Amino acid sequence: MKSYNSFDVAQEQIIQAATLLNLDEATKKLLLWPQREFKFTLPVRMDSNKVEIFHAYRIQYNYARGPAKGGIRFHPDETVDVIRALACWMCWKTAVIDLPLGGGKGGVVCDPKNMSPRELENLSRAYIRAVAYLIGIDKDVPAPDVYTNPQTMAWMMDEYETILNKHHTGVLTDKPMQLGGTEGRRDATARGGVITVREACKILNVEPKRYVIQGFGNAGQRAALLHQEILGVGKLIAVSDSRGAIFNPDGFDPKELVMHKLKTGSIKGFPGGKDIPRDSVLELDAEILYPAALENSISIDNAVNIKAKIVCELSNGPTTPDADLILNKKGIYVIPDILASAGGVTVSYFEMVQDNYSYFWDEELIHQRLDGKLTKAFNTVHEAEKEKNIHPRLAAMVVGIARVAEACKLRGWV
Ligand code: GLU
Repeated sequence: MKSYNSFDVAQEQIIQAATLLNLDEATKKLLLWPQREFKFTLPVRMDSNKVEIFHAYRIQYNYARGPAKGGIRFHPDETVDVIRALACWMCWKTAVIDLPLGGGKGGVVCDPKNMSPRELENLSRAYIRAVAYLIGIDKDVPAPDVYTNPQTMAWMMDEYETILNKHHTGVLTDKPMQLGGTEGRRDATARGGVITVREACKILNVEPKRYVIQGFGNAGQRAALLHQEILGVGKLIAVSDSRGAIFNPDGFDPKELVMHKLKTGSIKGFPGGKDIPRDSVLELDAEILYPAALENSISIDNAVNIKAKIVCELSNGPTTPDADLILNKKGIYVIPDILASAGGVTVSYFEMVQDNYSYFWDEELIHQRLDGKLTKAFNTVHEAEKEKNIHPRLAAMVVGIARVAEACKLRGWV
């Protein structure tokens, strides 16, 4: 497989959108690079009593529209360019939904699967000690991402509050409910994605009868459950995770499957599931495909074989640019990550608002407001698609980038 530098891809997208928007040279140059990026080394004492040094980043891509916002990833293959790209996409993501936020991302090069809870706690606290003076509700508000979760956020928030010697819950989002977290955050990414599928089905006249999920982490599991709940129809015919894939043309019970995954750590061995090669899930005959694993899973190697009518990108950057062209040519409607996966950051924003007021909304209100934001964003992107005769990814970029560019201009930066 051809390997892509994600940041090259992100920059290429900016150039394309800038041309369509007729952006002036200075604005384009400003948007092509992060406004601020930080690199740290974190010494952490491990259970063996040895100290290990971890490399870590926080990148605030653009904060013209508000505080930088985006997750922190713990991953062995983390690179500065992946984080730059993800920070950049966060920027367009918050802008497409019209949230008063900028975009950012952080990461630590580490292998969380081989670390104990205490080592992860020490690492999380060390990370916050390094970034404490750079983040805050009015500067930059991190959240979980790949291999981080509400427990990570709880440790981080505690370290931050200890440094500041006061309560300051809104500094991070997707916290546990007992520590200023919100209703509806855990399934928000998937819920937002399924809402965009609902809207896409309306405009394309597709009945979402069968669906496939690639990647069975938080977003994949929640999408499995929510597809039927929100759309009223749908058989989950195949699922993959890092260990393999299973298929059943009659459909799996999503609840049972999620329980099996939580109990055994994998989807493998689920009763009624036939083992199939992991990557073949992408190529099955189903109306809806949800990629919910890591970057670049849909590539030139498999794009020609994809049969779904709608691809809903729940993960960040699942489709390589050449695969994108192929899907487009085949008439497959790709709901791009910056729209399809924006439910998470939307409810993160609701969490920030609630933390600031210290008054919390019920789940129904969160769901309603999330639906309103995602539906509106979907339709705005669809309008841009028709108006400029471009595919949905570029349309979403154009909507997001135009809003960020306008904020930069209004501030007098360019
Ligand atoms: N990590 C999630 C994303 O990529 C959520 C970010 C956030 O809530 O700030 O959208």
